Amino acid sequence: KFNTNVGQHILKNPGVADAIVQKADLKPTDVVLEVGPGSGNITVRILQQARKVIACELDPRMAAEVTKRVQGTPMQKKLEVLLGDAIKTEFPPFDVCISNTPYQISSPLVFKLLSMPNPPRTSILMFQREFALRLTARPGDALYCRLSVNVQFYATVSHVMKVGRSNFKPPPQVESSVVRICPKTGADKPKVSFDEFDGMLRICFNRKNKIMRAAWLGSKEVLSMIERNYRVYCAMNNIPIDDSVVDDENGVDEDEDMEVDGQDAKGNGDEWGGFDMDVEEGDDDTPAFFKELKAANESMPKTPSKRKKTRLAQLIRSKIEKVLEETELVDKRARQCDENDFLRLLFALNSEGIHFG
Ligand code: SAM
Repeated sequence: KFNTNVGQHILKNPGVADAIVQKADLKPTDVVLEVGPGSGNITVRILQQARKVIACELDPRMAAEVTKRVQGTPMQKKLEVLLGDAIKTEFPPFDVCISNTPYQISSPLVFKLLSMPNPPRTSILMFQREFALRLTARPGDALYCRLSVNVQFYATVSHVMKVGRSNFKPPPQVESSVVRICPKTGADKPKVSFDEFDGMLRICFNRKNKIMRAAWLGSKEVLSMIERNYRVYCAMNNIPIDDSVVDDENGVDEDEDMEVDGQDAKGNGDEWGGFDMDVEEGDDDTPAFFKELKAANESMPKTPSKRKKTRLAQLIRSKIEKVLEETELVDKRARQCDENDFLRLLFALNSEGIHFG
Protein backbone atom coordinates (compact mmCIF):
# COMPACT_ATOMS: atom_id res chain seq x y z
CA LYS A 1 0.00 0.00 0.00
CA PHE A 2 2.85 2.40 0.75
CA ASN A 3 5.30 3.50 -1.90
CA THR A 4 8.60 3.72 -0.05
CA ASN A 5 10.27 4.78 -3.31
CA VAL A 6 8.74 8.20 -2.70
CA GLY A 7 9.45 8.11 1.03
CA GLN A 8 6.02 6.99 2.22
CA HIS A 9 6.64 6.20 5.87
CA ILE A 10 3.49 7.18 7.72
CA LEU A 11 3.81 8.48 11.23
CA LYS A 12 1.79 6.12 13.39
CA ASN A 13 2.62 7.52 16.84
CA PRO A 14 0.08 10.29 17.64
CA GLY A 15 2.38 11.60 20.37
CA VAL A 16 5.09 12.37 17.82
CA ALA A 17 2.59 14.05 15.46
CA ASP A 18 1.37 16.22 18.38
CA ALA A 19 4.93 17.12 19.35
CA ILE A 20 5.89 18.15 15.80
CA VAL A 21 2.97 20.56 15.55
CA GLN A 22 3.53 21.87 19.07
CA LYS A 23 7.20 22.64 18.26
CA ALA A 24 6.06 24.95 15.45
CA ASP A 25 4.52 27.44 17.96
CA LEU A 26 1.65 28.16 15.58
CA LYS A 27 -0.46 31.30 15.78
CA PRO A 28 -4.18 31.12 14.87
CA THR A 29 -3.45 33.48 11.96
CA ASP A 30 -0.73 31.31 10.40
CA VAL A 31 -0.80 29.82 6.92
CA VAL A 32 1.17 26.56 7.06
CA LEU A 33 2.76 24.71 4.16
CA GLU A 34 2.89 20.96 4.73
CA VAL A 35 5.11 19.00 2.35
CA GLY A 36 3.94 15.41 1.87
CA PRO A 37 0.77 15.25 4.01
CA GLY A 38 0.30 11.55 3.22
CA SER A 39 -2.93 10.36 4.83
CA GLY A 40 -3.08 13.53 6.94
CA ASN A 41 -1.90 12.51 10.43
CA ILE A 42 -0.01 15.77 10.91
CA THR A 43 -2.34 17.81 8.66
CA VAL A 44 -5.41 17.44 10.89
CA ARG A 45 -3.41 18.59 13.92
CA ILE A 46 -2.13 21.68 12.10
CA LEU A 47 -5.66 22.47 10.90
CA GLN A 48 -6.83 22.65 14.52
CA GLN A 49 -4.34 25.43 15.27
CA ALA A 50 -3.75 27.42 12.07
CA ARG A 51 -5.80 29.61 9.75
CA LYS A 52 -5.01 27.56 6.70
CA VAL A 53 -2.96 24.58 5.50
CA ILE A 54 -1.50 24.30 2.00
CA ALA A 55 -0.58 20.63 1.62
CA CYS A 56 1.63 19.67 -1.31
CA GLU A 57 1.48 15.95 -2.13
CA LEU A 58 3.04 14.02 -5.02
CA ASP A 59 0.91 10.89 -4.84
CA PRO A 60 -2.69 11.37 -6.07
CA ARG A 61 -3.92 8.51 -3.84
CA MET A 62 -2.55 10.24 -0.76
CA ALA A 63 -3.89 13.62 -1.93
CA ALA A 64 -7.33 12.00 -2.20
CA GLU A 65 -6.99 10.42 1.22
CA VAL A 66 -6.15 13.63 3.06
CA THR A 67 -8.92 15.47 1.18
CA LYS A 68 -11.45 12.77 2.17
CA ARG A 69 -10.29 12.84 5.78
CA VAL A 70 -11.48 16.43 6.33
CA GLN A 71 -14.56 16.28 4.07
CA GLY A 72 -17.74 17.34 5.81
CA THR A 73 -15.83 18.78 8.79
CA PRO A 74 -15.17 22.45 9.62
CA MET A 75 -11.54 21.82 8.61
CA GLN A 76 -12.47 21.25 4.96
CA LYS A 77 -12.44 24.89 3.91
CA LYS A 78 -9.11 25.52 5.64
CA LEU A 79 -7.25 22.88 3.59
CA GLU A 80 -5.87 23.47 0.10
CA VAL A 81 -4.22 20.44 -1.52
CA LEU A 82 -1.63 21.04 -4.24
CA LEU A 83 -1.02 17.90 -6.25
CA GLY A 84 2.57 17.70 -7.47
CA ASP A 85 6.26 17.64 -6.65
CA ALA A 86 7.01 20.07 -3.82
CA ILE A 87 10.33 20.98 -5.43
CA LYS A 88 8.75 22.01 -8.73
CA THR A 89 5.55 23.54 -7.38
CA GLU A 90 5.30 27.28 -6.94
CA PHE A 91 3.98 27.89 -3.43
CA PRO A 92 1.58 30.66 -2.47
CA PRO A 93 2.83 32.73 0.52
CA PHE A 94 2.96 30.92 3.88
CA ASP A 95 4.29 31.59 7.39
CA VAL A 96 5.47 28.20 8.65
CA CYS A 97 6.56 24.95 6.99
CA ILE A 98 5.97 21.56 8.61
CA SER A 99 7.00 18.29 7.01
CA ASN A 100 7.69 14.68 7.71
CA THR A 101 9.96 15.00 4.71
CA PRO A 102 10.24 12.30 2.06
CA TYR A 103 13.98 11.70 2.37
CA GLN A 104 14.66 11.97 -1.39
CA ILE A 105 13.88 15.68 -1.34
CA SER A 106 15.64 16.63 1.92
CA SER A 107 18.42 18.68 0.28
CA PRO A 108 16.38 20.41 -2.41
CA LEU A 109 13.63 21.24 0.08
CA VAL A 110 16.04 22.97 2.48
CA PHE A 111 17.62 24.72 -0.50
CA LYS A 112 14.21 25.87 -1.75
CA LEU A 113 13.07 27.18 1.65
CA LEU A 114 16.32 29.05 2.28
CA SER A 115 16.47 30.71 -1.11
CA MET A 116 12.88 32.02 -1.00
CA PRO A 117 12.64 35.83 -1.01
CA ASN A 118 10.44 35.60 2.11
CA PRO A 119 11.36 32.33 3.81
CA PRO A 120 8.97 30.87 6.40
CA ARG A 121 9.37 32.14 9.98
CA THR A 122 9.92 28.59 11.21
CA SER A 123 10.33 25.23 9.52
CA ILE A 124 9.85 22.05 11.54
CA LEU A 125 11.17 19.21 9.45
CA MET A 126 11.69 15.50 10.05
CA PHE A 127 14.77 14.09 8.33
CA GLN A 128 16.94 11.01 8.39
CA ARG A 129 19.24 11.30 11.43
CA GLU A 130 22.42 11.68 9.38
CA PHE A 131 20.97 14.48 7.30
CA ALA A 132 19.87 16.29 10.47
CA LEU A 133 23.41 15.94 11.84
CA ARG A 134 24.81 17.42 8.64
CA LEU A 135 22.60 20.46 9.09
CA THR A 136 24.05 21.11 12.54
CA ALA A 137 27.66 19.92 11.95
CA ARG A 138 30.50 22.32 12.87
CA PRO A 139 33.92 22.78 11.24
CA GLY A 140 36.09 19.71 11.81
CA ASP A 141 33.11 17.35 12.27
CA ALA A 142 33.08 14.42 9.87
CA LEU A 143 29.64 15.40 8.57
CA TYR A 144 30.51 19.09 8.01
CA CYS A 145 29.70 19.95 4.38
CA ARG A 146 28.42 22.65 2.05
CA LEU A 147 24.91 22.12 3.37
CA SER A 148 26.05 22.81 6.96
CA VAL A 149 27.71 26.09 6.01
CA ASN A 150 24.83 27.36 3.88
CA VAL A 151 22.11 26.54 6.37
CA GLN A 152 23.95 27.92 9.38
CA PHE A 153 24.90 31.06 7.45
CA TYR A 154 21.31 31.95 6.57
CA ALA A 155 19.42 30.36 9.46
CA THR A 156 19.53 29.17 13.04
CA VAL A 157 19.21 25.40 13.06
CA SER A 158 18.47 23.30 16.10
CA HIS A 159 17.90 19.63 16.78
CA VAL A 160 14.43 19.26 18.30
CA MET A 161 13.97 15.54 18.96
CA LYS A 162 14.99 12.06 17.94
CA VAL A 163 12.34 9.80 16.44
CA GLY A 164 12.95 6.06 16.30
CA ARG A 165 12.14 3.86 13.30
CA SER A 166 9.32 2.07 15.08
CA ASN A 167 7.19 5.23 15.03
CA PHE A 168 6.60 4.81 11.28
CA LYS A 169 4.66 2.43 9.09
CA PRO A 170 6.50 0.84 7.35
CA PRO A 171 9.61 1.53 9.47
CA PRO A 172 12.40 3.19 7.47
CA GLN A 173 15.90 1.70 7.51
CA VAL A 174 17.42 4.47 9.60
CA GLU A 175 16.56 6.63 12.60
CA SER A 176 15.07 10.10 12.16
CA SER A 177 15.33 13.50 13.82
CA VAL A 178 13.17 16.60 13.84
CA VAL A 179 14.94 19.93 13.32
CA ARG A 180 13.88 23.54 13.51
CA ILE A 181 15.16 26.02 10.92
CA CYS A 182 14.58 29.74 11.56
CA PRO A 183 15.99 32.12 8.95
CA LYS A 184 18.07 34.98 10.35
CA THR A 185 16.19 38.26 10.15
CA GLY A 186 16.81 41.99 10.55
CA ALA A 187 20.40 42.93 11.34
CA ASP A 188 21.41 39.24 11.57
CA LYS A 189 20.30 38.50 8.01
CA PRO A 190 23.37 38.14 5.75
CA LYS A 191 23.46 40.74 2.98
CA VAL A 192 25.11 38.23 0.65
CA SER A 193 23.19 36.64 -2.21
CA PHE A 194 22.56 32.94 -1.77
CA ASP A 195 23.69 32.11 -5.33
CA GLU A 196 26.94 33.98 -4.84
CA PHE A 197 27.77 32.40 -1.47
CA ASP A 198 26.70 28.91 -2.51
CA GLY A 199 28.51 29.20 -5.86
CA MET A 200 31.75 29.87 -3.99
CA LEU A 201 31.11 27.05 -1.51
CA ARG A 202 30.64 24.58 -4.37
CA ILE A 203 34.26 25.20 -5.37
CA CYS A 204 35.59 25.04 -1.80
CA PHE A 205 33.74 21.81 -0.99
CA ASN A 206 34.22 20.13 -4.34
CA ARG A 207 37.28 18.64 -2.71
CA LYS A 208 36.67 19.37 0.93
CA ASN A 209 39.71 17.42 2.09
CA LYS A 210 42.10 19.19 -0.26
CA ILE A 211 43.76 22.46 0.61
CA MET A 212 42.20 25.55 -0.94
CA ARG A 213 45.09 26.02 -3.38
CA ALA A 214 44.25 22.65 -4.94
CA ALA A 215 40.51 23.26 -4.84
CA TRP A 216 40.84 26.59 -6.67
CA LEU A 217 43.89 26.30 -8.88
CA GLY A 218 44.04 22.56 -9.53
CA SER A 219 41.04 22.30 -11.78
CA LYS A 220 40.54 23.48 -15.38
CA GLU A 221 36.80 23.27 -14.96
CA VAL A 222 36.79 25.62 -11.97
CA LEU A 223 39.14 28.10 -13.62
CA SER A 224 37.20 28.23 -16.86
CA MET A 225 33.94 28.76 -14.94
CA ILE A 226 35.54 31.66 -13.07
CA GLU A 227 36.86 33.03 -16.37
CA ARG A 228 33.38 32.94 -17.92
CA ASN A 229 31.95 34.86 -14.97
CA TYR A 230 34.85 37.31 -15.02
CA ARG A 231 34.21 38.08 -18.70
CA VAL A 232 30.61 38.99 -17.83
CA TYR A 233 31.86 41.19 -14.98
CA CYS A 234 34.31 42.96 -17.35
CA ALA A 235 31.64 43.48 -20.00
CA MET A 236 29.32 45.05 -17.42
CA ASN A 237 32.04 47.32 -16.07
CA ASN A 238 33.73 48.28 -19.37
CA ILE A 239 37.00 46.61 -18.38
CA PRO A 240 39.13 45.58 -21.41
CA ILE A 241 40.14 41.91 -21.65
CA ASP A 242 43.57 40.78 -22.82
CA ASP A 243 43.14 37.51 -24.70
CA SER A 244 46.66 37.43 -26.15
CA VAL A 245 48.58 34.18 -25.71
CA VAL A 246 51.76 33.98 -23.68
CA ASP A 247 54.18 31.30 -22.55
CA ASP A 248 53.53 30.56 -18.93
CA GLU A 249 56.84 29.22 -17.66
CA ASN A 250 55.82 29.17 -14.02
CA GLY A 251 52.36 27.84 -14.66
CA VAL A 252 51.06 24.78 -12.91
CA ASP A 253 49.12 22.17 -14.82
CA GLU A 254 45.47 21.91 -13.95
CA ASP A 255 43.69 18.59 -14.07
CA GLU A 256 41.98 17.85 -17.36
CA ASP A 257 39.05 16.44 -15.49
CA MET A 258 37.93 17.54 -12.08
CA GLU A 259 39.22 14.33 -10.54
CA VAL A 260 40.88 11.20 -11.72
CA ASP A 261 41.54 9.75 -8.32
CA GLY A 262 38.11 9.88 -6.79
CA GLN A 263 34.64 11.31 -7.19
CA ASP A 264 34.22 13.94 -9.87
CA ALA A 265 32.28 17.15 -9.52
CA LYS A 266 29.31 16.06 -11.56
CA GLY A 267 29.24 12.51 -10.28
CA ASN A 268 28.79 13.70 -6.74
CA GLY A 269 25.10 13.09 -7.19
CA ASP A 270 23.44 15.26 -4.66
CA GLU A 271 22.43 18.87 -5.25
CA TRP A 272 24.44 19.86 -2.21
CA GLY A 273 27.42 17.72 -3.07
CA GLY A 274 27.48 16.57 0.46
CA PHE A 275 24.89 13.97 1.27
CA ASP A 276 24.65 10.24 0.64
CA MET A 277 27.18 10.21 -2.20
CA ASP A 278 29.90 11.98 -0.28
CA VAL A 279 33.05 9.89 -0.46
CA GLU A 280 35.89 10.66 1.88
CA GLU A 281 39.41 10.73 0.56
CA GLY A 282 41.01 7.39 1.19
CA ASP A 283 37.85 5.44 0.44
CA ASP A 284 39.07 3.10 -2.20
CA ASP A 285 36.08 2.69 -4.45
CA THR A 286 37.71 4.25 -7.50
CA PRO A 287 36.22 2.71 -10.61
CA ALA A 288 38.70 0.51 -12.49
CA PHE A 289 38.49 2.75 -15.53
CA PHE A 290 39.83 5.75 -13.60
CA LYS A 291 42.62 3.67 -12.09
CA GLU A 292 43.69 2.62 -15.57
CA LEU A 293 43.45 6.19 -16.83
CA LYS A 294 45.57 7.42 -13.96
CA ALA A 295 48.21 4.73 -14.52
CA ALA A 296 48.30 5.58 -18.24
CA ASN A 297 48.74 9.30 -17.42
CA GLU A 298 51.57 8.58 -15.04
CA SER A 299 53.49 6.49 -17.58
CA MET A 300 53.27 9.24 -20.23
CA PRO A 301 56.36 11.44 -20.72
CA LYS A 302 55.91 14.79 -18.98
CA THR A 303 55.07 17.76 -21.22
CA PRO A 304 57.67 20.53 -21.52
CA SER A 305 57.55 23.22 -18.85
CA LYS A 306 56.44 25.90 -21.32
CA ARG A 307 52.68 26.17 -21.34
CA LYS A 308 50.52 28.46 -23.42
CA LYS A 309 48.00 30.60 -21.57
CA THR A 310 46.00 33.71 -22.34
CA ARG A 311 46.89 36.76 -20.33
CA LEU A 312 43.35 36.70 -18.98
CA ALA A 313 43.83 33.16 -17.62
CA GLN A 314 47.11 34.26 -16.03
CA LEU A 315 45.45 37.30 -14.51
CA ILE A 316 42.69 35.19 -12.97
CA ARG A 317 45.16 32.71 -11.49
CA SER A 318 47.18 35.51 -9.96
CA LYS A 319 44.06 37.16 -8.51
CA ILE A 320 43.00 33.91 -6.86
CA GLU A 321 46.50 33.24 -5.56
CA LYS A 322 46.66 36.73 -4.08
CA VAL A 323 43.27 36.37 -2.39
CA LEU A 324 44.10 32.94 -0.92
CA GLU A 325 47.41 34.24 0.43
CA GLU A 326 45.93 37.44 1.83
CA THR A 327 43.05 35.67 3.55
CA GLU A 328 45.53 33.06 4.88
CA LEU A 329 43.29 30.30 3.59
CA VAL A 330 45.65 28.94 0.96
CA ASP A 331 46.70 25.91 3.02
CA LYS A 332 43.40 25.40 4.85
CA ARG A 333 40.85 22.78 3.95
CA ALA A 334 37.14 23.59 3.52
CA ARG A 335 36.25 21.12 6.27
CA GLN A 336 38.20 23.25 8.77
CA CYS A 337 36.79 26.66 7.73
CA ASP A 338 33.91 28.38 9.50
CA GLU A 339 31.38 30.81 8.04
CA ASN A 340 33.59 33.81 8.82
CA ASP A 341 36.43 32.29 6.79
CA PHE A 342 34.08 31.73 3.86
CA LEU A 343 32.63 35.22 4.12
CA ARG A 344 36.12 36.77 4.18
CA LEU A 345 37.03 34.72 1.15
CA LEU A 346 33.92 35.80 -0.75
CA PHE A 347 34.46 39.51 -0.03
CA ALA A 348 38.12 39.29 -1.07
CA LEU A 349 37.26 37.49 -4.32
CA ASN A 350 34.41 39.91 -5.09
CA SER A 351 36.76 42.86 -4.58
CA GLU A 352 38.93 41.36 -7.34
CA GLY A 353 35.90 41.16 -9.65
CA ILE A 354 35.47 37.41 -9.17
CA HIS A 355 31.81 36.43 -8.84
CA PHE A 356 29.80 33.22 -8.69
CA GLY A 357 26.11 34.14 -8.80
N1 SAM B 1 2.90 13.44 6.55
C1 SAM B 1 2.61 12.03 6.54
C2 SAM B 1 2.92 11.42 7.89
O1 SAM B 1 3.74 12.01 8.60
O2 SAM B 1 2.34 10.40 8.24
C3 SAM B 1 3.38 11.29 5.43
C4 SAM B 1 4.87 11.47 5.46
S1 SAM B 1 5.74 10.44 4.33
C5 SAM B 1 7.31 10.36 5.13
C6 SAM B 1 6.13 11.50 2.95
C7 SAM B 1 4.99 11.89 2.03
O3 SAM B 1 5.51 12.77 1.02
C8 SAM B 1 4.32 10.77 1.28
O4 SAM B 1 2.93 10.93 1.36
C9 SAM B 1 4.79 10.92 -0.17
O5 SAM B 1 3.82 10.49 -1.12
C10 SAM B 1 5.00 12.41 -0.27
N2 SAM B 1 5.99 12.84 -1.27
C11 SAM B 1 7.07 12.16 -1.75
N3 SAM B 1 7.79 12.89 -2.59
C12 SAM B 1 7.15 14.11 -2.67
C13 SAM B 1 7.41 15.30 -3.40
N4 SAM B 1 8.45 15.41 -4.22
N5 SAM B 1 6.55 16.35 -3.25
C14 SAM B 1 5.48 16.24 -2.41
N6 SAM B 1 5.20 15.13 -1.69
C15 SAM B 1 6.02 14.07 -1.82
